[in-house]
Amino acid sequence: EVRVRFAPSPTGNLHVGGARTALFNYLFARSKGGKFILRIEDTDLERSTRESEEAMLQDLSWLGLDWDEGPGVGGDYGPYSQSERNTLYKQHAEKLLKSGHVYRCFCSAEELEKMKEIAKLKQLPPVYNGKWANATDDEAQEQLEKGTPYTYRFRVPKEGSLRIEDLIRGEVSWNLNTLGDFVIMRSNGQPVYNFCVTVDDATMAISHVIRAEEHLPNTLRQALIYKALGFPMPYFAHVSLILAPDRSKLSKRHGATSVGQFREMGYLPQAMVNYLALLGWGDGTENEFFTLDQLVERFSIGRVNKSGAIFDSTKLRWMNGQHLRSLPSEELTKLIGEHWKSTGILTESEGLFIEEAVELLKDGIDLITDSDKALSNLLSYPLYTTLASPECKPVLEDRLSEVAASLLAAYDTGEFLGAFAEGHSGWQKWVKNFGKSLKRKGKSLFMPLRVLLTGKLHGPDMGASVIVLHRAGSCGGVAPQAG
Ligand code: GLU
Repeated sequence: EVRVRFAPSPTGNLHVGGARTALFNYLFARSKGGKFILRIEDTDLERSTRESEEAMLQDLSWLGLDWDEGPGVGGDYGPYSQSERNTLYKQHAEKLLKSGHVYRCFCSAEELEKMKEIAKLKQLPPVYNGKWANATDDEAQEQLEKGTPYTYRFRVPKEGSLRIEDLIRGEVSWNLNTLGDFVIMRSNGQPVYNFCVTVDDATMAISHVIRAEEHLPNTLRQALIYKALGFPMPYFAHVSLILAPDRSKLSKRHGATSVGQFREMGYLPQAMVNYLALLGWGDGTENEFFTLDQLVERFSIGRVNKSGAIFDSTKLRWMNGQHLRSLPSEELTKLIGEHWKSTGILTESEGLFIEEAVELLKDGIDLITDSDKALSNLLSYPLYTTLASPECKPVLEDRLSEVAASLLAAYDTGEFLGAFAEGHSGWQKWVKNFGKSLKRKGKSLFMPLRVLLTGKLHGPDMGASVIVLHRAGSCGGVAPQAG
């Protein structure tokens, strides 16, 4: 059975890198009919916070990456937070002590420091010299009776190598002679990180460990512990780094990097997920637009690239526009309408024209939050600025006043407003007749009309714009603003 896990440390926000690791795990599990497990790695009690944990869960849920086992949902392999699994770590440490894979090391901090200095002088790798590796039971007993603090040290084979077949990187191997016996449990009884991860992955029956490249060096120790514990080794897949456009490691100085920031900026979870999947993966075709379900259908770990992926925020923004426009219009209207009301740009009573306005503006925006500016631009009436611009000169010379006079007349008779009762077709009929009566069409009709009716030289479809402006005017609140 395929069982994968995402194992964040709750010491900050969920970053795009972590989110992508979670996504690849999710896609792998879903595409294989396996289980996606969430495990909280909160052994670092000083840096881990509840707040961060909750925010991470929220971000994952927002992205739609629901987990089958873990915080909030439980499961047969719990608890799912490392801080609650201490007994398990102790048990396995004792098991390794009994089997001889681990021994007690009574060296003091000063002794270890000296060991390092000596190694340095001799130009040897700074590894443990094996002092307690072969101590007799009596020697150890003596220290225990004296109450000397001790750590648990893992006995590393002194020669040979260890090899794994990484599903993304291919063969990776390490020489064992430079590793040295390492601590798995500190003298205060705290198990060390690599030991916890291994015990967790083993006892949670994880079949595939898919995680960030930065954990590749840890794999050596973890694999040794795995073997010693007698558990079958999982498959490993190390996903490359996410890079900034200058190919340095993506960090805060490159702008937004956390999922929460993107959510606040108005990004859609569908677009985030789609874009994150493309960071190092593609289905082999030109297609780049995928829903989460489509990703599940197409995903294969073998297609994940081993070189670093560049995070291009311009492309993410563009992709958001694609997803935004692919939403059913009811859903988009609801999202944007709620956004307008929450920012106060519209009040409840002005809801009458939201649908038309959204339809009109959606082509010009990539983010929900872009819609504020687009709406206020639509509702503004910057006539003076327009008239003063050099670009308006030809329109003025084309006897703007003639069109204005006829428009006023049509307004006076009620014919102009009447046309709107019939919506778009009414507008079209009216504008055609209006042009005929003035013997104008094309630019010489539409440019002066646009200036007079919208105060602007350019904008989205004029008929639709005028209808929205008309609705906005008649519901009172949003009068066209001069500007
Ligand atoms: N807790 C580690 C991290 O947040 C992940 C460890 C792992 O996946 O093995 O980077």
